[in-house]
Amino acid sequence: MNNFHVILAATAAVFAAFGEITIRSDYPGGNVKVCGIDETNGVVRIAPDLRDTQGRWFHWDFTLRGAAGRKIHFSLPDDKWQYISSLGPAISKDGGRTWSWLRPDGTRHEPANAFDYTFGPDERETRFAVSIPYAQKDWDAFIAKWRGKDVVCDVLCKSQSGTRDTELLRIPCRKAAKWLFAFTARHHACETSANAPMEGVVEAILSGTPEGEWLRDNADCVFVPFMDKDGVENGDQGKNRRPYDHNRDYLKGRYTSVRALKELLVKESEGKQIVFIDMHSPHVRSLPSCPEQDQVFTFGCRDERLNAHWNEFRKNWKETQKGGALVYDGKYDIFAGKGYAVTMEKQWAAGFMSSDPWVRTLPNCYLATCCEFGYSLCGGVYSFPAARELGRNMLKALVRTAQASEKP
Ligand SMILES: [Zn+2]
Repeated sequence: MNNFHVILAATAAVFAAFGEITIRSDYPGGNVKVCGIDETNGVVRIAPDLRDTQGRWFHWDFTLRGAAGRKIHFSLPDDKWQYISSLGPAISKDGGRTWSWLRPDGTRHEPANAFDYTFGPDERETRFAVSIPYAQKDWDAFIAKWRGKDVVCDVLCKSQSGTRDTELLRIPCRKAAKWLFAFTARHHACETSANAPMEGVVEAILSGTPEGEWLRDNADCVFVPFMDKDGVENGDQGKNRRPYDHNRDYLKGRYTSVRALKELLVKESEGKQIVFIDMHSPHVRSLPSCPEQDQVFTFGCRDERLNAHWNEFRKNWKETQKGGALVYDGKYDIFAGKGYAVTMEKQWAAGFMSSDPWVRTLPNCYLATCCEFGYSLCGGVYSFPAARELGRNMLKALVRTAQASEKP
């Protein structure tokens, strides 16, 4: 096999070194399986470390050293699956502080399982990831500026392993609350694009916007940024875990965070109406049969009353997001009984219940849906500032939807 070395059983923590090129993923969110490094020809073969995920998935995040001044070809498995986002990998040259896409101009990268990268002459270490990473330290940095200013940093529960806290951010109502607004992300550990919009929601509530001020006088707000806390920190896929993942657990109660969230939603919504938004990332890139995967989209439901509130929310979000960096125009939303919604309904009927349909079974539910935020193309080129803006505008739309119910 000449210079082509193969690691048969690499794990995320393995430090792979062949000649000069070294690859590591021993940090929060890190994940890679190094399949081979061909120093002579400049080829690096990698794959996502699937761990307990059934079938295939696409989360990987690694740091490479030792290729300064070289062009390297990165190749992922050639099995007709998609491993790279529409804009190519996310790239950081400063240890994960700032990120850009291989195709920052928004043009589509092909193929979905390989890319080339030319390292600058002094580029000693570069981090590559399937999406812009987001782990606990990012949330901590965001929350630092709000600590002591009307937010309560609480703990929902211990993580599944019992070794970590699952964060619960509270913004308590200043008056008697009539509403409970609840936001969750990372039921699927790898879905990093959901957290910046959540930051935007928090900002919109706390920064004196009219909608935020109304909410603070009328609602208790709660946020769980990492429903699968262990998975986020360990760099798991999280999606399609064996025997089932966090977002199929709402009847079975396997996971500590799901049990605790269900209890919170029931207990703390007494005498209030619930608005619940579960924030996700979709597939890694769009396919001809599913163009919505590079967009922002949300799901309708079969309940007529709740679906009417969802439609009101869509209408409001179109309005509040108008002119924003990322387009939300409602065109890619998935209606009950259509497309992927049918697959999900079958899973729920078989006992593998997701978060939002479970919340819709509560008698005081006013609106509960899942919002999907494309990984790299997200109705425009995904960046943290643009995604935060999207979240701020989503919050405004949710508030307007709640306010409409109070009009005589
Ligand atoms: Zn998801």
